[in-house]
Amino acid sequence: MSLPAVLEPYPRTDAGAAALAALLGDPGQAMLAFDFDGTLAPIVDDPEQAHASERSVHALQRIGPCVGKLAVVTGRPVRTALRLGRFAEHDGLSHLTILGQYGAERWDADTGAESVPPPPAAVAEVRDALPALLDSLGLPEVRIEDKGRAVVLHTRLLDDPGAAQGLLEGPVADLARRHGLAAEPGRYVVEVRDPSVDKGAALRTLVAETGMRTIVYAGDDLGDLPAYAALKGMRDHGEADVMLVAVASDEQQALMPRADLVVHGPDELAGWLERLADALGC
Ligand SMILES: [Mg+2]
Repeated sequence: MSLPAVLEPYPRTDAGAAALAALLGDPGQAMLAFDFDGTLAPIVDDPEQAHASERSVHALQRIGPCVGKLAVVTGRPVRTALRLGRFAEHDGLSHLTILGQYGAERWDADTGAESVPPPPAAVAEVRDALPALLDSLGLPEVRIEDKGRAVVLHTRLLDDPGAAQGLLEGPVADLARRHGLAAEPGRYVVEVRDPSVDKGAALRTLVAETGMRTIVYAGDDLGDLPAYAALKGMRDHGEADVMLVAVASDEQQALMPRADLVVHGPDELAGWLERLADALGC
């Protein structure tokens, strides 16, 4: 089928175009999945104020009843994603599942059920050791965010956030490794967490559980690469039609060469979702 003229920008790959056609042809068999920060929520200086944009949530409210599944797959705890996205307070989102802390946590809108297992003790050990490590690096002003199952170091508010991130990545990786954890860089952040969970495994589980045949995934940062890899693997094995969307920024371009569709920032993604809702008649 040809794609509706309103639905620009179009996917730049044949596989992406095929997935979009499959979505339009049978939306009940489609899952739309989204990273949160930098994808549904603009990046702001204070991560506690990174609310989902109203435009994004409204577009999801329109699309939600038309598709088989909506998912938010985030490094945030589910309770933080619920607070910043207000996903439990909006109509039209009954098909939504939030996979939090890269899939270690889960919340389902249809039942309200929440699964939040206790965090690994190693995360608290690393958190307690970080202030002394940052002092020793001359970076005491780096912000430490305790997410329970992960600890995030934020350099965004420093004079030279890139240089600070470069200074701390190696020592923090060593500390994480000594505790059986991994340190993963992102957009002016380094996150220490259990490496056995990632967005790829989380998505694979949700796709298998729901039986969805068409998957659209949008993300903006390095933590989304496992999701990209898992979904590309499903596509290569003929398990699903897949469209990978990169929400591009000046800070991170790693997803762009792998993406079927590139949009520039959360607002442009929201606009594309509005046009998708129009095309679906939602
Ligand atoms: Mg993100």
